[in-house]
Amino acid sequence: MSLVRRKFDTLVIGAGGAGLRAALQLSQDEAMVAVVSKVFPTRSHTVAAQGGVNASLGNVTEDNWHWHMFDTVKGSDYLGDQDAIEYMCRAAPRIVYELEHMGVPFSRKDDGRIYQRPFGGQSQNFGGAQATRTCAAADRTGHAILHALYQQNIAARTHFFDEYFAIELLRDDEGYILGALIMDIATGEPMVIEAKTTLLATGGAAQIFRTSTNAMINTGDGMGMALRAGIPMQDMEFFQFHPTGMAGKGMLITEGARGEGGYLINGEGERFMERYAPKARDLASRDVVSRAIAVEIREGRGCGPNKDHILLKVDHLGREVVHKRLPGICDMTQTFLNIDPADKPIPVFPTAHYTMGGIPTNRHGQVVIPVSSGPEEEVPGLYAAGECACVSVHGANRLGGNSLLDILVFGRASANHIKQYLTENRHHRELQESSIDVAMQRLQRWQQKGEGESVAGLRNELKRVMEQHCGVFRTEEVLQEGLDKVLAIEARLPDARLTDHSQAFNTARIEALELENLMDVAIATVCSALARQESRGAHSRMDYPERNDVNWLKHTLFYKDGRQLDFKPVHTKPMSVETFPPKERVY
Ligand SMILES: Cc1cc2nc3c(=O)[nH]c(=O)nc-3n(C[C@H](O)[C@H](O)[C@H](O)COP(=O)(O)OP(=O)(O)OC[C@H]3O[C@@H](n4cnc5c(N)ncnc54)[C@H](O)[C@@H]3O)c2cc1C
Repeated sequence: MSLVRRKFDTLVIGAGGAGLRAALQLSQDEAMVAVVSKVFPTRSHTVAAQGGVNASLGNVTEDNWHWHMFDTVKGSDYLGDQDAIEYMCRAAPRIVYELEHMGVPFSRKDDGRIYQRPFGGQSQNFGGAQATRTCAAADRTGHAILHALYQQNIAARTHFFDEYFAIELLRDDEGYILGALIMDIATGEPMVIEAKTTLLATGGAAQIFRTSTNAMINTGDGMGMALRAGIPMQDMEFFQFHPTGMAGKGMLITEGARGEGGYLINGEGERFMERYAPKARDLASRDVVSRAIAVEIREGRGCGPNKDHILLKVDHLGREVVHKRLPGICDMTQTFLNIDPADKPIPVFPTAHYTMGGIPTNRHGQVVIPVSSGPEEEVPGLYAAGECACVSVHGANRLGGNSLLDILVFGRASANHIKQYLTENRHHRELQESSIDVAMQRLQRWQQKGEGESVAGLRNELKRVMEQHCGVFRTEEVLQEGLDKVLAIEARLPDARLTDHSQAFNTARIEALELENLMDVAIATVCSALARQESRGAHSRMDYPERNDVNWLKHTLFYKDGRQLDFKPVHTKPMSVETFPPKERVY
């Protein structure tokens, strides 16, 4: 079958912060860049980021990148790669000033400098007093950043394919990635984008869970494409549950609410975080606070008639602070709960939020996989950045404000490496028809409505199973049962039929393709969680409650083929400073 083909130097799949930061760097260097996004770029999930981006500017309290680095290593429960963490924390101030110069309207202090707020897990002097490191544009930081990046890309003449869905990576016999098969969502027409380099920047996958803070589009498509191309997923057992999702609904109430002085209370009116984290209290790391909430509720100290949530109080801060610093939260609670947080506390519950694991990369964004014959090897032509990638700077638990930083730092770093690759690889390699045919089969399978179970039904079942069997607390038995159930759902997938949107057939096909990705990511997550027999960061095994550095200070790798697991060492050596050795993690 002959398809429309377009050729570019670089194909960027994803128009969130990671994809747009990378594309900008390349377009400004006059590379031919195509950005493909299944939604209009400024609707990518980055737009929803509220609280801010971390950088040791020291505008409010004294700070430096060494302290930021220590906090990130400790926050990661020592599983983060310390070379990548050093790189990110050192780059942070420059990244924020670049954004400022691009026109991001950061909130300001009275003296005109960028406003910063305290966030969880931040300290001065290697574990001392609370630091104040998160640069914010009120509680709409992601919105401000994404719009600025989009405008800059338009000025730099980046070529956008808006509302196109990437289906599958294209590769040749020697393993080079040569672009992707995509589809125009409006018409259903497939198209081939040939590229010398491809960057996956498709964001996270929290849609594998029923209740999540993530947009509906966060279905782990890049991870699914990589898995099917034989690339393993790293550290998928580490999934962040944000302590303060709106109870029963899932929307995020930013950690910035606690950063501004808000705190949590249980059904007895007690400020319970004082018991779990005497020093940092409500600004302990997210895994710690989520577990504390889950324990309070399990032990009968929840709030409300069903004792099934706890409350976040900000009313004591005064109406002016609440409305000036948290305007988006006020809008949201007003719309969905009819509550003004300046008057009444907000009901909250831990909610699936962030995918720490992902496509394994080095700090240049190159996708790297271990080979039996020796050290890791790059997948030629393939890069990944942002939430879909695992560099790994977040290890077992990400600190708030570090993800916006990650996507910008490594979006930029990937682009810099791609520039170098393009100077050494000036010509397009030949793309064989057979590679396109394989990718087309995936689309053709969802060509017609048929008999069988609905895609939507299977998806909802999958999300329920993941929530029940792979949540905040885990055991071997619960996980094994979860895996059996997920595999049973996967076995029913070939007989599924398209959800009947009679007016929107292509949307139904997209949902089916997304479900295949969700399924692959969910299986990777449960299998990795079953394998790791210890508790570290966000992965909390009730049957193995301790962290075990002797056996488990290593990254997990999950391969789709045969559901194989492998492991690789943590980079404990930073670039220029001494290693931070594992210590007990207390807040
Ligand atoms: C509600 C919320 C608040 C947050 N607040 C903060 C915060 O304050 N600070 C912080 O540091 N972090 C925060 N985070 C986390 C952070 O925002 C995200 O991790 C980050 O923005 C992800 O950026 P990204 O570029 O990797 O992906 P995204 O912004 O998710 O973009 C993914 C892109 O990929 C495209 N895409 C995906 N699949 C396909 C496909 N098959 N075909 C074509 N295109 C595709 C999408 O269209 C989209 O353009 C928050 C997250 C959420 C959900």
